Amino acid sequence: MSSDHRIYSYSAVLMGSPILLKLYSHNEALAAQVFRLIKQYEDLLTVNRTPSQVMEINHAAGRHPVTVSRPVFELIRCAKAASLVPGSAFNLAIGPLVKRWKIGFKGDSVPPAQELAALLALTSPAEVCLDEEAGSVFLTRPGMEIDLGAIAKGYIADRVRDYLRKAGETAGLINLGGNVQTLGSPEGGWTVGLKKPFSEGQALVGALVVSDKSVVTSGTYERYFERDGKCYHHILDPRTGYPLDNELDSVTVISTDSLDGDIWTTLLYGMGVAKGCAALRARPDIEAIFVTRSQEVILSSARHFRFTLLDNTFRLTDNTV
Ligand code: FAD
Ligand code: MG
Repeated sequence: MSSDHRIYSYSAVLMGSPILLKLYSHNEALAAQVFRLIKQYEDLLTVNRTPSQVMEINHAAGRHPVTVSRPVFELIRCAKAASLVPGSAFNLAIGPLVKRWKIGFKGDSVPPAQELAALLALTSPAEVCLDEEAGSVFLTRPGMEIDLGAIAKGYIADRVRDYLRKAGETAGLINLGGNVQTLGSPEGGWTVGLKKPFSEGQALVGALVVSDKSVVTSGTYERYFERDGKCYHHILDPRTGYPLDNELDSVTVISTDSLDGDIWTTLLYGMGVAKGCAALRARPDIEAIFVTRSQEVILSSARHFRFTLLDNTFRLTDNTV
């Protein structure tokens, strides 16, 4: 624990990620409860070790449905809906490809094309069957696997915010390693740094100030390997089975719920800047900051946050009207 003015910080490592909690009160017991809550959700949702409810579903693929707890069912339902949006880059059934590439888990080579093609056939989101009444999930083909890695941290960040609110806290911040969720508005808002892609240490492109908002960043620079001068990162294109390849280094989404932010970072990654900004015109509740390989920073709009560019080697384009 360390203190900075009246803000108290608590840290842990969970879900393979550094976790940071900031509170406006000195409350070790509350911090311990929050970390316990995160661990409970990790144990339900992880695909990195057994037992978890998601692993049970995966192990039963092609054999039988598995009844899961309500939060797991709801999260899978939400992930399936996002996967079925026409042209969506989000796919909850991407598991077999994630496991084959192993990016972020010592994977350092490009799998043979015919293997990827065979695995692609096991990633149809429509074949994730949900039975509302039984509260069960069934993957129709052997070898299918759900992966909630793109969405689970957002869901958990929202549960932490709700928990803090219920505990009577008026201000707090949880950072689950890429997913920041904030409660309240201490001294005019929370400042959240926007990391400079592929830089050493803590270099920032800019900083955002938000209140009662989530800030989710997905980037190609956190989990990747390089081969023959090419960068292979962990956000896979469900249409090809290879990492999404476009002009982006990172996408940050500002929204009320971190779950929305998590879904939208993946959707926007698939769309790229032009299509992404166009899509967001219909969603005033979702705003994005794109950082491109050519060092541009593009704001889709900035109604719910303030942004300051801190690195002048980047060019800022603000679409706010
Ligand atoms: P995001 O961009 O939000 O998501 C990328 C991740 O989503 C990929 O890593 C992959 O899992 C999945 N994905 C890839 N392409 C797609 C797609 N097209 N559609 C949908 N999903 C896709 N890391 C460890 O190193 N060790 C652990 O033990 C560990 N345990 C975890 C347990 C839980 C419950 C969770 C949620 C995460 C855990 N992680 C662990 C981290 C995990 O492996 C991912 O790296 C992380 O969730 C990615 O989140 P992100 O915000 O960085 O990226
Ligand atoms: Mg995500």
